[in-house]
Amino acid sequence: MSDEPYVIVGSGPAAAAAATQLVARGLPVTVLNDGSLVPPGWVVRINGRSVFRRDRQIGLECIDETESSSEWIKTASLGGLTNYWTAAVPRFEPHDFTMPGELDHRHAWPIGYDDLEPWYEAAESLLTVTGAAEPEMRGTTQTTFVRPTPSDWQEIVESIGLTGVLTPSAIGRPTFIARRPREFESYRTVLRPMERSGKIEVRAGMTVEQIRWSSADQRAVGVEARDSITGQQRFFPARAVLLAAGAIDSIAILLRSTSADHPGGLGNTHGVLGRFVTDHPRLWCELELDRKLTALDLPILLRNSGTAEVPLGWQQSIGILTTPDRLRSWFGGKTDRFGVNTFGTNLPVDRQHVRLVPHDDGHTVPQVALTYNEETLAVLRDSVPRLQSELAQLGINATAHNVWMSDAGDSVHYTGGARMHHDAKLGVVDAGNQVRGANGVYVCDSACFTTLPEKNPTLTSMAIAMRAASLIAA
Ligand SMILES: Cc1cc2nc3c(=O)[nH]c(=O)nc-3n(C[C@H](O)[C@H](O)[C@H](O)COP(=O)(O)OP(=O)(O)OC[C@H]3O[C@@H](n4cnc5c(N)ncnc54)[C@H](O)[C@@H]3O)c2cc1C
Repeated sequence: MSDEPYVIVGSGPAAAAAATQLVARGLPVTVLNDGSLVPPGWVVRINGRSVFRRDRQIGLECIDETESSSEWIKTASLGGLTNYWTAAVPRFEPHDFTMPGELDHRHAWPIGYDDLEPWYEAAESLLTVTGAAEPEMRGTTQTTFVRPTPSDWQEIVESIGLTGVLTPSAIGRPTFIARRPREFESYRTVLRPMERSGKIEVRAGMTVEQIRWSSADQRAVGVEARDSITGQQRFFPARAVLLAAGAIDSIAILLRSTSADHPGGLGNTHGVLGRFVTDHPRLWCELELDRKLTALDLPILLRNSGTAEVPLGWQQSIGILTTPDRLRSWFGGKTDRFGVNTFGTNLPVDRQHVRLVPHDDGHTVPQVALTYNEETLAVLRDSVPRLQSELAQLGINATAHNVWMSDAGDSVHYTGGARMHHDAKLGVVDAGNQVRGANGVYVCDSACFTTLPEKNPTLTSMAIAMRAASLIAA
């Protein structure tokens, strides 16, 4: 067993983050990814601006045969969804880990901000984050590069009754040319360099279907995968299996991993696997102002993180809308039209779930059911008039156009379903990401989130993956 590699499933940011920690300790790693597509693209950055980006969104699928009109947006590509992402990487705050449990013990995280603090820093370094030059506009983010926040926006943020930061963004060094669709894409930025230096093996075109369980050894002994070219089944022995296939696929792999010891799938003794899954409810609008403000190269994030009395928060990302405004943003130009993307929060409920359904080719596929309650949607709808009224108090009249609420699942921030909890009846993994009752199996992506605050999840998912991998290695 000691010669067997650690098998990581997936090649997205969570997988890449976990791999760095195993490799740093000299451990053997095999990465298995279902797709072998490396989505084409180019990024050209000059003097801190991404002046050219070629990106044809190849390989992004929207599966909408799900329940409750939820969408599931996924890819079977090397690098996962970082081939398409916007790269906003705010940290969660200490109360994001404590407040949910104070409201309801079902939502208590077993880890806190302090457990993740060093790993946030490590993940930010891996992502090469650019943030605000001013400490008050940067929050807790540790940046590699900084950008001054336009002074008119600083004044607005200071006057408005919300927390505001310049979006911390994984946009890399100020000047480079790269053949990839995004500045940070986890395969070409992290995994491929490790593969080329012989530190890991990446096997593309290997769809992991289930984890093999040994009843005699009472541990997972490897994974069963299907070769996407030959259709043949392959077995990959593993010292430990780290699931990082994206929350929905990681849950599906655990649900398929049935055995006499685990008839409902690994980690499903209490029927909680696949439950409490969530995504951000999202509202989009365009704001037309009666005066011009500096066009924003990096969006401003305004947020209300909720309180114990009013727990449902939201985060508004205010940014440019058009290519001419992008050009203006490089030279300090102004505009009177901005796009506002609002994410709401939603305390996960157990009726939000992932389950397996049969598919035409004899395999099973996950079906996702996401629903948001009326209270959650009302907070989101109110967020735009609230922003208009805050701006009006500063003498800025803002008219909202094209206001629309997206379908559930459209934010692509899937979290939960194999959540962390101290209580085995409410969580699938423990505080070290180990699946309960399944030695050698770890959930290292956002499926392990107990709750999802209003902030973008990927940085936190990478920090958790790094912490888990370092604990596994130890
Ligand atoms: C348009 C867009 C914009 C976004 N913007 C942001 C943002 O600004 N900030 C942010 O925090 N997040 C953003 N996200 C979300 C972010 O991309 C995801 O949260 C993140 O990529 C999830 O990382 P992951 O490693 O868990 O999974 P993924 O990135 O989904 O990667 C999973 C990998 O696993 C592989 N895989 C799946 N199933 C199997 C299997 N059975 N066997 C083997 N391999 C498998 C897939 O091929 C894939 O490579 C955005 C997403 C989109 C689509």
